[in-house]
Amino acid sequence: MIGANIEKIKQQIGQNVQLVAVSKTKPVELLMEAYNAGQRIFGENKVQEMVAKHEQMPNDIEWHMIGHLQSNKVKYIAPFVSLIHAVDSLKLLETINKEALKNNRIINCLLQIYIADEETKFGLDETELNTLIESETYKQMQNIKIVGLMGMATNTDDENKIRNEFKKLRSLFGNSRFTNYDLRILSMGMSSDYKIAVEEGSTMVRVGSLIFGDRNY
Ligand SMILES: *Cc1c(COP(=O)(O)O)cnc(C)c1O
Repeated sequence: MIGANIEKIKQQIGQNVQLVAVSKTKPVELLMEAYNAGQRIFGENKVQEMVAKHEQMPNDIEWHMIGHLQSNKVKYIAPFVSLIHAVDSLKLLETINKEALKNNRIINCLLQIYIADEETKFGLDETELNTLIESETYKQMQNIKIVGLMGMATNTDDENKIRNEFKKLRSLFGNSRFTNYDLRILSMGMSSDYKIAVEEGSTMVRVGSLIFGDRNY
């Protein structure tokens, strides 16, 4: 079942778009089903849960932190996390840099951009993005690498609205002022809107319920 779900999504997104299997709240047995079907990138949004699953599962998995991350928790994932999707402040980036240094690693990060019109969503606006990426503090950091942008569209049935929000993110991503920064990853699209996201230039989709079924919180 899980393997078939993954296969279907992979066919729809094509070979140039990466699939993050969002496994938050799901037990390790279900993640292992995905693993055995060939899935190697898993996304979690809680530090404790990600650490526990990392300890129980094979070593060749790429663990992506997709949720809002608190600075005081970075140290727990710094030894192994392969991509942090939702960086939304210079302060958080400084903490990640410090913890990455302690682990003798370079940690890849995405900056989360605010594109929805929902109070509950996090992220930088265009001005904050430019300020951060052009700041000396950022340029001095040796142990992080910003490799792209991430965003979440408004939770709505209005397909046009979603499409326009993704277009906005895509245009920020393509902004020529970032040509020196090697931004490669555009993380946008979830179960409800990944097809639109891929049409609008996403290079990485984060899909949970369509793979593992609905979550009961
Ligand atoms: C939970 C979550 C997803 C996946 O949501 P689904 O609707 O289950 O696909 C994607 N991105 C983030 C940031 C999430 O927290």
